[in-house]
Amino acid sequence: MNVAELPSLARYAARASESRGRQLVEEKSSSRNEFQRDRDRIVHSSAFRRLEYKTQVFVNHEGDLFRTRLTHSLEVAQIARSIARNLGLNEDLAEAISLAHDLGHTPFGHAGQDALDDCMRPYGGFEHNLQSLRVVDLLEERYGAFDGLNLCFETREGILKHCSLENARTLGEVGRRFIERKQPSLEAQLANLADEIAYNNHDIDDGLRSGLITVEQMMSIDLFRRHADVVMRAYPHVTERRMTLETIRRMINQLVVDVGEASLKAIDAAGVGSLDEVRDAGPLILFGSAIRDEATVLKQFLRRELYYHYRVQRMASKAKRIVKELFDAFVAEPNLLPTEHAARRARIGERAIADYVAGMTDRYAIGEHARLFAISER
Ligand code: MG
Repeated sequence: MNVAELPSLARYAARASESRGRQLVEEKSSSRNEFQRDRDRIVHSSAFRRLEYKTQVFVNHEGDLFRTRLTHSLEVAQIARSIARNLGLNEDLAEAISLAHDLGHTPFGHAGQDALDDCMRPYGGFEHNLQSLRVVDLLEERYGAFDGLNLCFETREGILKHCSLENARTLGEVGRRFIERKQPSLEAQLANLADEIAYNNHDIDDGLRSGLITVEQMMSIDLFRRHADVVMRAYPHVTERRMTLETIRRMINQLVVDVGEASLKAIDAAGVGSLDEVRDAGPLILFGSAIRDEATVLKQFLRRELYYHYRVQRMASKAKRIVKELFDAFVAEPNLLPTEHAARRARIGERAIADYVAGMTDRYAIGEHARLFAISER
């Protein structure tokens, strides 16, 4: 059977056949290359399925059509693969990193992460990137021979998007680039940018759908208005909803094309001819400067008008309270933890509580909170 590399990989792409390998050596597959195997392991993990019920911006029960961490991750993977193909990068690796990048996210999005980080401050803090790595290295329990998913170095490196120097020193090989200030593979850099393209655009869609932001406000954003003007001229009679979706579609396309062109220029200018040279160069997957500025304006707008909207903040405040109260209750009374988590708590301390809380979906956390705090039977 053919387990060859992808066709037409550029010299600077990562190659499955040249991977630095897995922490535990395994027999090669007869049907898939090493990065395909990583992607499949991620898709089959329970942490991946839980993303379906974890908040992106809107809490899961607020509506069925909003993005969740799962649909967000799929959109990131799709965007990353498109750009990877255009640049001759390794689509399998870019896809694996993209699908795994949010596995360590807590319930309730960034509010949950901030609350858990606060709670864990006396015990080493909590970073969702680091937690994503912890999920694939340790927390998934599905193999006879090892904990975690035993992924390739390049996939793990891509998942660890950023990390403090202090944490990097405890992580061995995968933490070294933060200490030596080197870059990860272009596939990892790409997954990072695809993440940004995905959320900037789908948050406009979700924000408009929720009514928290309006088309009129969006028209003050150059990146949006430029495409909206063209769409309204071409299709003057379509509904506003369809106009905005057609506009967002074109925005994503422009960003994807722009990243491809700007990155190719940067790669050429740096003259990198191998993954090792990529690691020694500066960041090479990037927006062109004009689009970078426009994307920054869009991000600032979304932060101000959507993420800080009082209705989003109310939910975030409630979410923080739930996470904090759960954590504090388990610290004060570890015997409230389900048996397996209580056993881990006895072995590794409060980190086991963070693992338990971080692994919860939104609705599981809400249910667990009610089971601990509601006076009525549940
Ligand atoms: Mg993300």
